[in-house]
Amino acid sequence: MTVLDSFSLRGKVAVVTGGSRGIGRALAQALGEAGAAVAVTARTLPPAERAAEELRDAGITALPVSLEVTDPAQVDRMVESVTRHLGPIDVLVNNAGISIGRPALDTPDEVWREVLATNLDGLWYCTKAVGAQMVARGGGSIVNIGSMSAMIVNRPRWQPAYLASKAAVHQLTKALAAEWAPHGVRVNALAPGYILTEASPVDQPEYREWCVEPAAMKRYGLPEELGPAVVFLASPASSFMTGSVVVIDGGYTLF
Ligand code: NDP
Repeated sequence: MTVLDSFSLRGKVAVVTGGSRGIGRALAQALGEAGAAVAVTARTLPPAERAAEELRDAGITALPVSLEVTDPAQVDRMVESVTRHLGPIDVLVNNAGISIGRPALDTPDEVWREVLATNLDGLWYCTKAVGAQMVARGGGSIVNIGSMSAMIVNRPRWQPAYLASKAAVHQLTKALAAEWAPHGVRVNALAPGYILTEASPVDQPEYREWCVEPAAMKRYGLPEELGPAVVFLASPASSFMTGSVVVIDGGYTLF
């Protein structure tokens, strides 16, 4: 196999949760361009359908699925639907997530629970359901979208719930990587810095001071700049990598 061949996902089936927009949409495109058939999920069907249609226009086999990741029954239905329409899942990208930034004492318990339920419980349900299939088949690659916020406190954007959820994602990545390595299932994480999406705080006057100036490269990343790394982690190009956290942050965490 040549180096270039090792990045190919031809004949593989990938799922990107939260693939309707932002980072997930770009990751779905990258996986599709590498040859995978891609299921894109969103909480309701229309945004997933729009994303799938755009992917199909680019020559990619794409399946829209509605999925609320906090509901394990919906997760089971998603796995069943993808398997029936596209085949068994080879690649799972756990991307669906929310970020609510509030100082600790202004964070109601409901907000804490919503952030943890989406970013951690949701990822757990998807990983367990797809991981069971991968372990039974003896192979697969899971890529969790963590964050540089799992490793640093990006002051003054206080986001205790978000930081706690992403730190847990990084450690869960390592726990499952160790447990499932004997079954041929690799589990890695990507830790992005600030990436320009609808979730970015560009409406706030301090956003340059928070998100741009502290990065060595002095700019936001773009969603498509994460695509190649996800293809790498999903494909045989990273066959000896598991339990790793790949940081892509324009040098934000250097200081
Ligand atoms: P967006 O808000 O642009 O997109 C979020 C996606 O997740 C949407 O497709 C949304 O679907 C889906 N989603 C949200 N909640 C749920 C839920 N409960 N169940 C199912 N799907 C859900 O976010 P980003 O693209 O910016 O972020 C994507 C991931 O990257 C997140 O995990 C985030 O924490 C992480 N990240 C982002 C960074 C950034 O700077 N943007 C930096 C580091 C990490 P729907 O269409 O239904 O709303």
